[in-house]
Amino acid sequence: MRIDIITIFPEIFESPFAYSIIKRAKDKGIVDIHFHNLRDYSQNKHKNVDDYPYGGGAGMVMMIEPIAACIDKLKEERTYDEVIYTSPDGELLDQKVANHLSTFGNIIILCGHYKGIDERVRQNYITREISIGNYVLSGGELAAIVLCDSIIRLIPGVLGDETSALSDSFQNNLLAPPVYTRPANYKGMLVPDILLSGNDSEIVKWRYEKSVERTKTCRPDMLNEQE
Ligand code: SAH
Repeated sequence: MRIDIITIFPEIFESPFAYSIIKRAKDKGIVDIHFHNLRDYSQNKHKNVDDYPYGGGAGMVMMIEPIAACIDKLKEERTYDEVIYTSPDGELLDQKVANHLSTFGNIIILCGHYKGIDERVRQNYITREISIGNYVLSGGELAAIVLCDSIIRLIPGVLGDETSALSDSFQNNLLAPPVYTRPANYKGMLVPDILLSGNDSEIVKWRYEKSVERTKTCRPDMLNEQE
């Protein structure tokens, strides 16, 4: 998968993309991430990418020209499955959306700033708008990092068996069951006997029951969704 990220702060991505699962996916050649600094596409000598809003009011708006120039250039080089804009009024990111996006070959992610981007970009260049939650961030970079992480770990070959995404929360509309590791007895706090029994089918059953129990307690809305 190739991900092209358009941003005015490529540096923000350095650390989150340099460790753990994303690093592993890059090293294995499963994902190829490219950054495009929007300022490089500014046609103005101060490298501005924003301007005052028509009609007045507070805040600046990201201009259409640099964004359009960058997306046009990328599209000349290859075709894209989706041109995504991270936006608080977009479709809410959930595991289903992440699963779907993880099947794509090439995607562009545009990170907004200030009061947002000129509406004409959204109407003419963006194919999908994604929000990471019902709150407002200062910029789209953190949202793009969350989005990339949620997608990349689902691409086959990225996670080893030991961390398989299939047993994670949401993957089957249930929350994950509790997990334990050594020691079996920590100051009288015990690991459930069943997990030490070696009886695989009973363990699978126990984990399923705990998943349902936890979902009922913490996220009953998820069970209603299945009906
Ligand atoms: N004025 C806009 C908010 C702009 S916030 C509004 O009220 O809707 C600046 C940028 O941060 C946005 O352009 C977007 O790219 C990003 N952003 C903010 N909150 C976000 C969220 N919840 N999900 C995804 N991106 C978000």
